[in-house]
Amino acid sequence: MSMNVETGLPYMLSVEDARARILNMFEVLETERKPILDALGQTLAEDVSSTLDIPPLTNSAMDGYAVHHEAVAGASEANPIELRVVGHLAAGELPGQSVEGANAIRIMTGAPIPLGADTVVPFEETDEFERKSRGLSPSEITEIRVMKEAAVGANLRPAGQDVRKGQMVLERGTLLRPSEIGVLASLGRDTVEVVRRPVVAVIATGDELIEPGDPAEAGKIYNSNSYGVAAEVLRYGGIPKLLGIARDNLESMNAKLDEGLTADVLLTSAGVSRGDYDIVKDVLASRGQIDFWSVRMRPAKPLAFGVFTGQGGRLVPHVGLPGNPVSALVAFEELVRPALLKMQGRTDLEKAMIRAVLEDDIVNSDERRVYARAVITRRNGRYYARLTGDQGSGVLTSMALANGLAICPEDVPVMRAGQEVDVQMLDWPVDAGQA
Ligand code: AMP
Ligand code: MG
Repeated sequence: MSMNVETGLPYMLSVEDARARILNMFEVLETERKPILDALGQTLAEDVSSTLDIPPLTNSAMDGYAVHHEAVAGASEANPIELRVVGHLAAGELPGQSVEGANAIRIMTGAPIPLGADTVVPFEETDEFERKSRGLSPSEITEIRVMKEAAVGANLRPAGQDVRKGQMVLERGTLLRPSEIGVLASLGRDTVEVVRRPVVAVIATGDELIEPGDPAEAGKIYNSNSYGVAAEVLRYGGIPKLLGIARDNLESMNAKLDEGLTADVLLTSAGVSRGDYDIVKDVLASRGQIDFWSVRMRPAKPLAFGVFTGQGGRLVPHVGLPGNPVSALVAFEELVRPALLKMQGRTDLEKAMIRAVLEDDIVNSDERRVYARAVITRRNGRYYARLTGDQGSGVLTSMALANGLAICPEDVPVMRAGQEVDVQMLDWPVDAGQA
């Protein structure tokens, strides 16, 4: 392996090596206590066990009549069995009386089963509706005819069916999705301990940049990287801190860096490519431990990575993303996203991968790993990957069209249409276009 004499690193790092070196510099962040709804998307930092049975009491799964099964043995349409209705139970009420002999208690879904009953006959299996159509109000129903037998335990939800008292329900490290938020609420929890979200400083660099909203100017381009990158940060659970544009001079870079070092991570874009051996690189290198890397991937070969010392001696990792907009986003996906997830206590750092049939060729001219922007569709049970056109690293709309990155390995000079390819999904599901 040829080495770079300046950095002592291999001239071109593999994607895996680059990711491992980056991940190595990130730790799981501290925890915080939050209202459960605010914790959506965060990682649980405590083991959650239940202090109660859920449901707390055996209750009815239907609106109907709580009876003892023997009281309705042999009941049928032709041979209905009449029961005396001795009480009514709504959800939230506790039974005040038990069911004996040929008695029934009218019961609503969720109400606890009275003593003596072992099954619930739903309205549909009685003449309830007929009585109602005769103008009787529920409280006027004093007897009921049952048209069907009932099995012991039918239409009952046993106490503890969902969760048992003392049971471990959600383990530390669990990602809180809507269903977990619901489970926490079902346990009576209103707050939860989670890993806090990382604050990510985002700085664009370049004299050519103007901000969206500014009037267009000849020779200038809009800063798209900050917004695309900040949106990625949001999407993967971070809190972006947009610090605007650093100009290609010492004062400007230094001022932005000072602001950026209050964050947990610092992301810059541009100024890391070969043609850019200028002030950006010098400032970065003079203030931190920064390596400039070539990563064996296309797009996003040039990358800077290092660590700055922030306030109080805190170490702040820095990823210098490439300037080309597609490169910045692909580098983010492959190298920054896993680090953000790691900080948030996530352990599964991979995106979904599928196998798809290529619909275009992928040409790999210089032994890098190619991440080709692709539209993935599913037809007749198979996935297909069509490239989104011009794969230039400045063609940001080609990224916007894509829902996956088709991966051509380093050692494969060309993949032909018709061949199977690994695709890393950017978005899921991929059912659009399903035939
Ligand atoms: P550089 O790495 O500074 O040579 O930038 C590489 C390419 O990316 C140039 O064409 C830049 O104009 C472009 N570029 C740099 N920063 C941004 C940005 N924030 N938004 C959009 N394009 C950018
Ligand atoms: Mg530049």
